[in-house]
Amino acid sequence: MILSPGSFLCTMKNMLGVNILMLEWVIIGAGIHGCTTAAHLAYADPSLTRDNRLLLIDSEATPLAAWDRLTARVGMKYLRSPGVHHLHPEASDLFRFAKRNDYDLSHFSDTSKKPSVSVFRRHCEKVVEEMNLTFCFQQASAFHIDRCTDGWRIETDQGAIFTRRVVLATGTKEHCSLPSWLPSNGDQRAYHLHQKQELTPVAPPVTIIGGGMSGVQAALELGHRYPSQATLAIRHPLRVWEYDSAPEWMGGKYKQTCKRALTFSERKNVISRARRPGSITKNLYRQIRREQNLGHLHVKQEAVQNVTPGPAAWLIHGEKTTWKARAILCATGDQYHPVHSPLLARLIDSYGLPLTPCGYPALAAHSLAWAEGLYVSGPLADFAIGPTARNISGARMAASCIQQETRNAFI
Ligand SMILES: Cc1cc2nc3c(=O)[nH]c(=O)nc-3n(C[C@H](O)[C@H](O)[C@H](O)COP(=O)(O)OP(=O)(O)OC[C@H]3O[C@@H](n4cnc5c(N)ncnc54)[C@H](O)[C@@H]3O)c2cc1C
Repeated sequence: MILSPGSFLCTMKNMLGVNILMLEWVIIGAGIHGCTTAAHLAYADPSLTRDNRLLLIDSEATPLAAWDRLTARVGMKYLRSPGVHHLHPEASDLFRFAKRNDYDLSHFSDTSKKPSVSVFRRHCEKVVEEMNLTFCFQQASAFHIDRCTDGWRIETDQGAIFTRRVVLATGTKEHCSLPSWLPSNGDQRAYHLHQKQELTPVAPPVTIIGGGMSGVQAALELGHRYPSQATLAIRHPLRVWEYDSAPEWMGGKYKQTCKRALTFSERKNVISRARRPGSITKNLYRQIRREQNLGHLHVKQEAVQNVTPGPAAWLIHGEKTTWKARAILCATGDQYHPVHSPLLARLIDSYGLPLTPCGYPALAAHSLAWAEGLYVSGPLADFAIGPTARNISGARMAASCIQQETRNAFI
């Protein structure tokens, strides 16, 4: 039994009549989505964290560890999303925080005031501290979820936890895989930029595969570090979109659309058409072109067909040319699907949870409850939140809906 977050207010008896500690909320996954939900619940009812009735668990050692690692790894300077998207329920809170702490205008980019990674990070720390989230955090990996009297029992590598309500905010990063053309011989010089394992330091020449935000930012970073020894390989011309979906989807448009698009297949089409995967902002596009013109960075627009490993370097065979790389960094997306996660596959199977034809939670628009007391955020909330479900604006929408739904349940 996990004991560290002290006094659980509520107890229940098991079949043998032994008292079991019962939490109010357990959030599985302390990434942007899990922390945003935790923050929304805690700001609405500070006693949840003060009295240890909410527990946030993650297989990582600290909240937001995956976010910190990835943003640092790709060399991200500014967020893609505007400064009103962050963990705190009040949209203006990050700007207020920046003003109070004398962050100057250089910490905000473009007219939509995209915050620098550093001000965003400091603001996350402020929210985590203000709401006691570190105290309510436990490092643990969940591997089974089962129903129990009045709630759910979560089996983790640190013991069992009992809770009235669970939020699944497990993200997609456990599911990133290297392209099929990379031999799976365990060679340490090919990595996925989103992988959990640390990358060993890379030596030039280096090739980055993928023309989305992660690939392009990493290419810029490596082009600065190793001028003219970094290559960005892209399959198609760079796609420029300011956000990862058209901005109108950040509001209530999806909810309205769902009133017309009734079937899940229709909704899936709406979501796929609205998303802009593998695209970059105008600002990054300009930087890439500048570095390319200065000769600091090579950009090859050709699909990689295969690679042959050599003693000191890979030979990369594209459609038109062949080039050398001592390290290959892939930013080729995540192959996410709920049933690829053993935790979710078993849960779906055991309780016959409703699924869309494509195997995602079948949820009504803006309703995050997949079963009684079982909520989702992130990719699992695709059909409830729509095109923005996976980004920070989606995290805010999901958190606010979860909080609203549970509040209504007690009125
Ligand atoms: C480099 C980068 C930059 C981005 N920039 C932006 C941006 O500017 N604006 C924007 O809106 N979006 C951005 N995104 C997209 C999105 O907001 C982020 O990917 C965000 O981190 C997703 O958060 P998450 O909580 O869903 O997933 P994650 O960050 O992956 O968190 C999920 C957590 O769940 C944990 N977990 C999973 N399974 C278990 C389990 N069984 N037991 C315990 N813990 C578990 C994992 O360890 C992980 O910490 C960016 C993404 C990347 C990669």
